[in-house]
Amino acid sequence: MIENSFNKNILPDNEADRLQALEHYKITDTPSEKSFDSICRLAAKTFGVPISLLSIVDAESVFFKSNIGMGTKKKAYRGDSLCALAILDDQVTVFEDALKEPCLLTNPNVVGDFGLRFYAGAPLITHDGYLIGSLCIIDKQKRTFSQKDRMILEGFAEIAMDQIELRRSSIETIEKLAGAQINIKNAVNELAAVNSKLELKNEELKTVNNKLQKSFDLTKTLNSDLEISEQRLKSFISKAPIAFGILKGENMIIELANDMILKIWGKTSSVIGVPLVEAMPELKDQPYPKLLENVYKSGETFIGDTAYVKMESDGVMRDCYFDFVYEPLKDHQNKTFAIIVIANEVTERISNKLELEELNRQFEIALHAGQLGSYNLNIKTGEMTCSEICKSNYGRLANEKFDFADLIECIEPEFKDMVAEKVSESIANKTQYNAEYLIKWPDGSLHWMSASGLPGCDAEGNVTNMIGVTVDITKRKNYEVQKDDFLSIASHELKTPITSLKATVQLLSKLKSNPEHPIIPKLIDQADKSTDKLSTLVDDLLNMHRISEGKLKLEESHFDLATMIENCCNEVGMTGNHYFKIISDGVATAYGDEQKLEQVVLNFINNAIKYAPQSDEIVISIECETDNFKISVTDQGEGIDPAIQPKLFDRYFRASHDGRKYSGLGLGLYISSEIVTRHGGEIGVISKVGEGSTFWFSIPAKKELL
Ligand code: ADP
Repeated sequence: MIENSFNKNILPDNEADRLQALEHYKITDTPSEKSFDSICRLAAKTFGVPISLLSIVDAESVFFKSNIGMGTKKKAYRGDSLCALAILDDQVTVFEDALKEPCLLTNPNVVGDFGLRFYAGAPLITHDGYLIGSLCIIDKQKRTFSQKDRMILEGFAEIAMDQIELRRSSIETIEKLAGAQINIKNAVNELAAVNSKLELKNEELKTVNNKLQKSFDLTKTLNSDLEISEQRLKSFISKAPIAFGILKGENMIIELANDMILKIWGKTSSVIGVPLVEAMPELKDQPYPKLLENVYKSGETFIGDTAYVKMESDGVMRDCYFDFVYEPLKDHQNKTFAIIVIANEVTERISNKLELEELNRQFEIALHAGQLGSYNLNIKTGEMTCSEICKSNYGRLANEKFDFADLIECIEPEFKDMVAEKVSESIANKTQYNAEYLIKWPDGSLHWMSASGLPGCDAEGNVTNMIGVTVDITKRKNYEVQKDDFLSIASHELKTPITSLKATVQLLSKLKSNPEHPIIPKLIDQADKSTDKLSTLVDDLLNMHRISEGKLKLEESHFDLATMIENCCNEVGMTGNHYFKIISDGVATAYGDEQKLEQVVLNFINNAIKYAPQSDEIVISIECETDNFKISVTDQGEGIDPAIQPKLFDRYFRASHDGRKYSGLGLGLYISSEIVTRHGGEIGVISKVGEGSTFWFSIPAKKELL
């Protein structure tokens, strides 16, 4: 409710919405505008009234947007303004004579000084139906207002309202424009900010650009260097002494192949760009394509060892060997896209190795021929690597362990220190080591060993090992002992007849003045025997010398064996209680050196007499077989141990006879054996301990001289 002079409710039902709608027009309390004044002026003129108003009805007041004829008044109280009534009806509100209108009888405009008598107001209706004000005409005299007048006023109100609507849309446009302008301003500000940022960035970019330029220049230089390097690398690869090639893709297309690899393949550069197996069909049955495929699939490098290739160089086919590598080339996803093939000729190394192996083989043969064992002793650990012969020299099997400690262990106590000392000396002075010593095999037998070695050094000159050879010298050592024994025996044997001869001569000398003395013939016999003995000994020595010098000569002729045997028996004569029994199965004419064969028979007979003194009968038999003659001398003496029987014909060999001492040089059977062998015959003994012995020899009946 608003207080009013009309004595009724002057607020329409939609007052609140109406006021809200009015607000949108932004017209209240704004200055007057020419366009609205023109409409009002036209309306006043049209109707011939003094006053015309364009009023806007606000919540409490009525604002005159245009005021024609009412001075400077801009506003009126809504409770007194007749325009407040005009917005209650969408038709034109007309009061032809105000004094006759009961609702106006207390209105100050009517009853006051102003003296209003006539009022007609057409409402200003917005496009959405709100009544926001009125276009009204006022007069101070009463008037009639026709229907036509109403329509004209309504027309003026519509024009005014259109103008108000236009004004509103203009304001909105302006506001929008203002808003847009703000946006533009903001955008401009932002642009300015962005611009300054851009400028900064620009500076940075400039710096970066400079750097880039420098990098570019550097890259350019590097690039050209790289090109030169690449050029050099290419020419290096093409002329390199190692074979180099690149196979691209799964089909192994030959992308690069240098001169050397082409030479190995036996191809020209026309194979470049061709798949490998197409370029080299001969590879089909060889392992290489499969190996390459594996490298391509697995991405793992393959290192090949000494591949054999037959290659032509200077028109000659050569056997060549190569070590080679298949190296996968991978992209950034670690996928193989090509394979580098590098091959290096190792023919020289292989042939050196083969040569070395051959030398080693020859060395092995030489060691074996000389029964030389070889060893390599690790000085630090005492471990020894020994050849089979070396181990056998020490009585060990090939698979048995045999280290330095084991070696020292088997050396006989009296040699241990000497060996250890010599080894230490050799290591300390880096000189050759030589030693001969006696060892005991695991089976208890004693053996003489000759060992030598040379220390080996590392790069710093420290002795690390000792390499050398060993040889079993037992035979030589025994022979040396035999030889020493022989010399003392020989001296002794020679001395006996000489002493006897000397004594005899001395006695004869004393009897010089008494030549008829009965003892003289006996002394002469004695001297004769001593001379014979000496002559036999000297003959034996001479024969031995001749044999060892290879100068034993045979003077052969046909002779009668039986006569030769008889001569022998006669020469020996009857000594002690021996007698000879000669058995012959026929007449035998032999061919040979009668004197030397007689020497053999005499040796057999003398031995029988010497070593079987208790046997009476000495049987000498002559057997004439188809191809040869066999002569045996049998005694009933002590017999000979079977173990020593094979040694009887060795030089210097003399058996021991249970403490009994027999004179002799141990040469008789040795010389006999040589004589018979030279005749192409055989010699031997059949003997049983306690049952006597039979020494025999055979010579070919007819023979070619050896
Ligand atoms: P020597 O008789 O001068 O010692 P030999 O060569 O003639 O040399 O004989 C070698 C050895 O053979 C002799 O030392 C002896 O032990 C043995 N021997 C030879 N003949 C006989 C024999 N009839 N009976 C037993 N032992 C013999």
